Parts: sequence; structure tokens; C-alpha cells
Amino acid sequence: MKICVYCASSAKIGQSYFNATEKLARYFVENHIEVVYGGGAIGLMGKLADTILALGGKIKGIMPKFMNEVEWAHKQVPDFEFTDTMQERKSKFLEGIDGLVTLPGGSGTLEELLEAITLKRLGQFTKPIVILNTNGFYTPLKEMLERCVSENFMHEKHLQMWNFVNEPEEVIDSIKNSATWNSDSIKFATNK
Ligand code: AMP
Repeated sequence: MKICVYCASSAKIGQSYFNATEKLARYFVENHIEVVYGGGAIGLMGKLADTILALGGKIKGIMPKFMNEVEWAHKQVPDFEFTDTMQERKSKFLEGIDGLVTLPGGSGTLEELLEAITLKRLGQFTKPIVILNTNGFYTPLKEMLERCVSENFMHEKHLQMWNFVNEPEEVIDSIKNSATWNSDSIKFATNK
């Protein structure tokens, strides 16, 4: 299985976020799951990569060239792909993966997650999306998305596009048990 992980670049966040990221990285390696991520060396991105590399797991970074030029790329990650733009990077993240996991993060993580949800709604991306709600960080987003549905900005079926889980140990099962999705979702993408 190959999983893409979106997560924070910030190094100034609480220790519990690092602990959850380390735990998840361990589960990935133990389950022989390959990881694709943003290629960063610090914050949760750094913790994810450091843990996977220390345990002998497989991880690939995808990063726009301009970030590499300012030396943001993790120096020990052997497998890297550099893109011309942020847009190209985002589409590469989703190529050939079996699922997507989002850990807490800032605007970059939120943007990546919401683009993936939007593509899934349109049937352009069909894989499981799991959101790790460490410390309830994503509860406001869960409520926002549910409000989109309850006020008919989105269809009730769209609630099946994502799974929120509280603990890293729930992530892999959540990916495996996600509702199936296909390109037919374009038929109910817009509430008419
Ligand atoms: P955020 O969740 O706002 O920290 O954003 C994570 C995303 O921000 C990454 O996927 C990158 O697009 C970008 N980013 C910001 N800072 C860095 C960094 N130091 N190294 C790599 N990517 C970064």
C-alpha cells in the first residue's frame, strides 16, 4: 500500500502532535506501507520522515523546486521528485496512492486536504481520505463540513468521502474500511 500524508511544517507545535506522528509512522513501517509526503525536514513532516527512515521504511518527498532552492528538502530522504509548481506537486501527491492521511497542519495542509476532498467530490480522485483528529484539532473542520451538508451546500453522500479518527492506531483500519467511491460521484457533485 502507498499512502500520501499531509502534515504541518511548523516545529513550534505541541509535543502530542509529534508523538502521534511518530506512532503513525511506526504503524506504516510495521505494515510495510510506503509513504509519499511534502519532503520537509522539520515539523511533523520532519518527524514523519525521520521515524520512517530510522525504522528502515520507505518514504518519498515531492516538492516544488523553489522550496529545494531554499534548502527545505529533507537531506536523508533518498527518493525525491521536484516539480515546477505547487499545483503540479499537489497532483503528483495523489498519483498512484491507495489513500490519503491528513495530520494537523496550517494553511498548506488545509489547502491540500480540501483540494483532495473537492477532487473526490468531482470523481477525479477516489481513494480513502482519513483525517487524524489529534487533540480534537480538526473538530471545527468536521463541524464545518457537516454544516455544508446539513445546509445543503453539499450532498449527504459526501459525508462518506472522509473519515475522522482520534488515534494513530485507527488510521490503517479506517483506510481499509472506507466507503468505496468512484467517478460516478460527478452525478451528485452538485446539489440541485
Ligand atoms: P502547513 O500545514 O501550512 O505547515 O503547510 C504544509 C505545506 O507547506 C507543505 O506541503 C508545503 O507546501 C509547505 N511548506 C511550508 N514550509 C515548509 C518547509 N519548511 N518544508 C517543506 N514544505 C513546507
